[in-house]
Amino acid sequence: NSIIKITDLHFSYNGLKVLKGVTHSFEKNTLTAITGPSGKGKSTFLTTLNRLWEDVPGAALQGCVELKIAEKWRDVYASSMDIAALRRMVGMVFQIPNPLPMSIFRNMAFPLKLAGVKEKDQVQAKVQEALERAFLWDEVKDRLHSSALELSGGQQQRLCIARALILEPMVLLFDEPTSSLDYQAAGMIEDLLVSLKESCTVLMVSHYLDQVSRIADSRLELADGKLLLSNISR
Ligand code: ADP
Ligand code: ADP
Repeated sequence: NSIIKITDLHFSYNGLKVLKGVTHSFEKNTLTAITGPSGKGKSTFLTTLNRLWEDVPGAALQGCVELKIAEKWRDVYASSMDIAALRRMVGMVFQIPNPLPMSIFRNMAFPLKLAGVKEKDQVQAKVQEALERAFLWDEVKDRLHSSALELSGGQQQRLCIARALILEPMVLLFDEPTSSLDYQAAGMIEDLLVSLKESCTVLMVSHYLDQVSRIADSRLELADGKLLLSNISR
């Protein structure tokens, strides 16, 4: 039951070849880890799913990326694809939490605003639901109007995950989501990532093989521009 289909994907920056023929299908409601040495193209691979690379001058992509949307396969790079809608369906969370310099509530409401959700009760209900799903509600419910920048690193990362969840994406991409966090905060993020599989398909770049063995369903190693299915030692 796959939901993402990548076929013979090639990618380069100004002629520097980073992906050289990636073919892989990702199953719905699974967590796949992408591992490999630095600078091999793991982050780049994630951005081929939501077209985030397209602002980079000199970057070029060939091949096919398809998403199953409402039971139909859709070419992510078709001219008919609505990029804003694509980025709502394929959310992304980065290594360094990046809350906006505004209140916790406004951070959460921001994607809703962009998506045109205006009704106040609906916004409040969705904010609470997403914060609950990210295991953050109890810690912030009494300070929703304080700055998000006052939160700890781990709380900021959970906030960024909650913000990515609020538009109910089908795919969530994580680029080393625990690298900037201490062990305890990282553990909470790991539990959260596993719980996301209920509603999402999760891809995660990680440097930590012990983390991969704890939470991933499968591991792909990016080597020589290709993704190779690799063992998870448990
Ligand atoms: P990884 O995530 O595996 O560390 P990246 O996808 O970040 O690898 O980078 C892959 C290669 O592409 C590296 O050689 C990097 O220097 C290069 N690269 C990444 N982003 C850009 C960019 N915006 N412009 C030019 N080259 C880039
Ligand atoms: P148009 O036909 O209006 O130019 P497209 O969506 O076909 O729009 O193309 C937009 C860009 O995306 C082009 O640079 C094209 O090369 C690229 N592109 C389109 N489809 C694919 C695909 N399946 N794989 C890789 N690149 C694609």
